[in-house]
Amino acid sequence: MDGYSAYHDRLPFGERLSAEPVLGDPFFPFDGDITVRPLERPVVPEPPRRGEPGGEPCPACAEPEKGLIWRDERWAVFAGFEPIGLPMVALLMPVQHVTLHRLGPELVATLGPMIHRLAVAVGRIPGVGRTHFSRFGDGSEHFHVWFLARPLGMQQMRGPMLSVWDDLLPRVPDEEFAANARIVATALAEDGGQVVSR
Ligand SMILES: [Zn+2]
Repeated sequence: MDGYSAYHDRLPFGERLSAEPVLGDPFFPFDGDITVRPLERPVVPEPPRRGEPGGEPCPACAEPEKGLIWRDERWAVFAGFEPIGLPMVALLMPVQHVTLHRLGPELVATLGPMIHRLAVAVGRIPGVGRTHFSRFGDGSEHFHVWFLARPLGMQQMRGPMLSVWDDLLPRVPDEEFAANARIVATALAEDGGQVVSR
């Protein structure tokens, strides 16, 4: 079928792979007996993402104010997604509904500076050791980059499992999270754009 490759041909669909490679990783947050789910066959063509024709509506365009903490004429930053076990989980998105592949020249030119500004802004929150950021793009078509605050000193939370810890850690009190969001929005506004009060 279109899109399949020699890579796919090598994979043991329906089988359970060994969990050993990640069980031995110091950053893997689980202990005890772990079983890997059977490897599912690929689905091609892929089902539509949110915001794509035939998919569910784009949540960011349906409720553009929900979780909004800062914006300028091109970019918006959102925060407050459940669960909230980290000091900050934020989303950077273009104001307009656009995919990564169709970002215009102005958005491409300002993406790097925005990543830098938001990473530095998240780092202003007390008790944050480092800002992680990542783009997946598997759920919604509307281009978005995730920013996660890794708590200072928490060595076992280094690396890509930080988002799992966000689900596991005790919930940050609402007032404290709102204060953190204000710190981020205020830091961004120092270089332009507007804080959106929550
Ligand atoms: Zn959208």
